[in-house]
Amino acid sequence: MKQLSQYKNYKKIAVMGGTFNAIHMGHRVAAEAVRQELDIERVIFIPTGNAPHKENDPMYNEHRYLMTVLATVTNPDFEVSRMEIDRTGKSYTIDTIKELRRKCSKECEIYFITGADAIEQILTWKDPDELLSMCRFVAVTRPGYNRTKLEKAIDTLKQKYKGNIEFLEVPALSISSTDIRNRVIADKTIKYLVPETVENYILKFGLYTTEYSQAPYINDINKRLHNVLTPKRFRHTQGVAEEAVRLAQRYNGDIDKAYLAGLLHDCAKCYTDEEKLRMCEEYNVPLDKILKKQPDLAHSFLGAALAKAEYGIKDEDIINAICYHTTGRADMSLLEKIIYIADYIEPNRESFPGLEKIRELAYTDIDKAVEYALHNTIDYNKEKNRIIHPLSITALEYYREENNEK
Ligand code: NAP
Repeated sequence: MKQLSQYKNYKKIAVMGGTFNAIHMGHRVAAEAVRQELDIERVIFIPTGNAPHKENDPMYNEHRYLMTVLATVTNPDFEVSRMEIDRTGKSYTIDTIKELRRKCSKECEIYFITGADAIEQILTWKDPDELLSMCRFVAVTRPGYNRTKLEKAIDTLKQKYKGNIEFLEVPALSISSTDIRNRVIADKTIKYLVPETVENYILKFGLYTTEYSQAPYINDINKRLHNVLTPKRFRHTQGVAEEAVRLAQRYNGDIDKAYLAGLLHDCAKCYTDEEKLRMCEEYNVPLDKILKKQPDLAHSFLGAALAKAEYGIKDEDIINAICYHTTGRADMSLLEKIIYIADYIEPNRESFPGLEKIRELAYTDIDKAVEYALHNTIDYNKEKNRIIHPLSITALEYYREENNEK
């Protein structure tokens, strides 16, 4: 019988590292494919603990761990480690690999399997050179994944660190954890996308639906948004809501308000320009010259009016956060800044110049993140020959001065 953690006996093991919120069929298929392809004796799933690059909800650590156990228990070559979950302080991959190295025989080869998106950032991880000398990386990709960026990074790593990274495309990875959470929120089935035991677990504990607010109206809001937004935009709003919660945790803001404002910030985005203009009239949203010329920019002002009239939001701070999430304005409240930045950096955002810098600033100094994002947006819109809204210009002046005085 195979026993748990007999690391000394293995010649080749693989760590399957990820958040696993929630673990899905794609993760299982990827781990099994790598195991077979590379002749791995044991795959150790290690759900992230207190990840350095994000604020995890500690309540979810146990759920993520238990779901990972449920999803892997029937495979004799898989096991799950609490190594990162139980680690106090920030949890870095280098510490995990060092801990495994101590447990394994000298000859044992260690592989680290994770999403290609995560590996793209490897140069920002702790001690990347040492990490790359201690284990080999397998970047598992979703269908349609554009390898160029990662390949370029790998070239640099190969020259610099003699890095060792390989790719494996896993068609089943078109399932994603974000999609699983969004489906649960929107009351859609997740059957066959996650193992049955994980599905039952999610339903039993009401995961994702009762996350930040017990209020049943969150479900209603989500169902409604699902109808008025494109699937991509709906995914984006879920990402903004989750990012806003992380930022609110970081800056001791109001988590419920952040979640709600994030969910609703783009509620008017997917109407056509004609519909937006008509609805602005209907909901008494004043349109200046710029908004008349660029009706898409009006979506945030219209969104604020709709949040009040159609989604029952009374809180002025939430309304303002929705209203100014595109233009920004001088002297924003913490919630306004959180939504402005969450909209920029949420994890589903496709990469654009400056994004990583804003992501970094977001968790160190939100005012600097706001200044940088405003600057970036103004430059980008100038290049596109768009008229810059005066609110953005005064906002940039304000935050430049504020940050200079710090
Ligand atoms: P994540 O947010 O969970 O995922 C990033 C992307 O990769 C998502 O698209 C995700 O898809 C996919 N993914 C994650 N794990 C995967 C896996 N094992 N197999 C297939 N796809 C996977 O990932 P993360 O939090 O960035 O962490 C990934 C790993 O990198 C973790 O082990 C983490 O500890 C490590 N990491 C270390 C450092 C550091 O040491 N400084 C910094 C960053 C990350 P799904 O959402 O569908 O899973």
